[in-house]
Amino acid sequence: MKPFRVRFAPSPTGVPHIGNTRTALFDWLLARQTGGQFIVRVEDTDRSRYQPESLEKILEILGFLGLSWDEGPKVGGPYQPYFQSQRLKRYQEVAQKLIDGGAAYYCFCSSDRLGNLRQEQKAAGQIPRYDRHCLSLSKSEIEKKKKAGQYVVRLKMPDNQNFIWTDLVQGRIAINSKDLDDQVLLKSDGFPTYHLAVVVDDHDMEVSHIVRGVEWISSTPKHLFLYQSLGWQIPQIMHLPLILGPDKTKLSKRHGAKSVLDYRDEGYLKEALINFMVYLGWSYQDNSKLLSLEELVEVFDYKKIQKQNAVFDIKKLDWFNGYYIRMKSDKELAKLLKPFAPSGVNESLLIKITPLIKDRMVKLSEFESLAGFFFEAPKVTGDFLAKKIKGDYKNYLEKAAQTLQPIEDWQEKEITSRLMGLIEENNWPTGDFFMALRIAIAGSCYTPPINDSMVVLGKERVLKRIGALL
Ligand code: GLU
Repeated sequence: MKPFRVRFAPSPTGVPHIGNTRTALFDWLLARQTGGQFIVRVEDTDRSRYQPESLEKILEILGFLGLSWDEGPKVGGPYQPYFQSQRLKRYQEVAQKLIDGGAAYYCFCSSDRLGNLRQEQKAAGQIPRYDRHCLSLSKSEIEKKKKAGQYVVRLKMPDNQNFIWTDLVQGRIAINSKDLDDQVLLKSDGFPTYHLAVVVDDHDMEVSHIVRGVEWISSTPKHLFLYQSLGWQIPQIMHLPLILGPDKTKLSKRHGAKSVLDYRDEGYLKEALINFMVYLGWSYQDNSKLLSLEELVEVFDYKKIQKQNAVFDIKKLDWFNGYYIRMKSDKELAKLLKPFAPSGVNESLLIKITPLIKDRMVKLSEFESLAGFFFEAPKVTGDFLAKKIKGDYKNYLEKAAQTLQPIEDWQEKEITSRLMGLIEENNWPTGDFFMALRIAIAGSCYTPPINDSMVVLGKERVLKRIGALL
């Protein structure tokens, strides 16, 4: 395959949710598997929605996932600048070219006039669109108005032209221009709109494949018309399927769709997030094989990107995450758990705790609920114990303490054999006895293996906790 030059073109208007980050992942895979380039281009032309800190977050997401970019912010590149706000002159120059060629025109209409027009059209049941009021202005009128006030530049969309392209994901698409508005290309502040800037940059940066969400399909005819008017070659186009929430409506925060950074902070591993994202709209075997980025570079096939919408299922992400947590060595996992443990935690203690909680964990943030008792004595009440334990828990705990007290070799084997002996001697129900011990030591009915936990806690603390409850 010829090397792909692809771009991820985020608008720094907020931190993208996981669905938008999928585009970056697909871009990156395509660039890496073809020996091409992955470009990050910052589409920062909407100044009213600009959030300066969001770009750092977007780059942090790419860094966290391991999606390195070849050209763009921080790394530069042969087509810099990669910030659209720094390329205004070029867009203005192209807008002029379009005006000169008759594919665009000046519009001086006030926002009041446009607002009224919209109201009237709506009231008449028409699709709101610009009525070309300024299209018929004479050259001298235009010059006069240009001196007097503000203006925008609009695209003069053909009235009835079929725009047809073969989308590498969606197949053949044909859209007639008759319902399309005369899009504003250049705003009164001299900034381009997305439509002008994206075409100019994709051309100037020699992008070979445009990969973006399906929501941009309806804009594509405008872009095709721009390419055609400028005599530029059109890149290949892929529109990725929409991601829906489990209720089949557009994915939103309501469905738990957050940014990759939010998921990271909740304790999802990058490997799980990558696999989760790649299967949102792409299929491989039975869609459950977990693959490393390197393996994905090998097997990713854009022909297997589906047309139909993908459905976001957080249970799948949880499952992937649990799997990757279990695949980590204790040492690796302990390192990942550190941010979730009390600050200043002793690393050797963390390594001892890690294997005890590994099998039960879905997210790293569960460290607190699963392992908090290693750091702080639980607050347990007799009432709670009474509710959970059927037998004579006071007796269980008194005898347990007496049995544990003389143990010198404080190891799991020894602890277990002594306690089992005690249970047998008294003919107590094993489950009930250990539940009482569990509650006394860890404050919860769901804990890591309790005898192993006692080893980590140390004899003194174990006896103190039992004593405190008694
Ligand atoms: N800036 C656009 C966005 O954030 C990019 C769309 C495109 O890739 O063409 O969605």
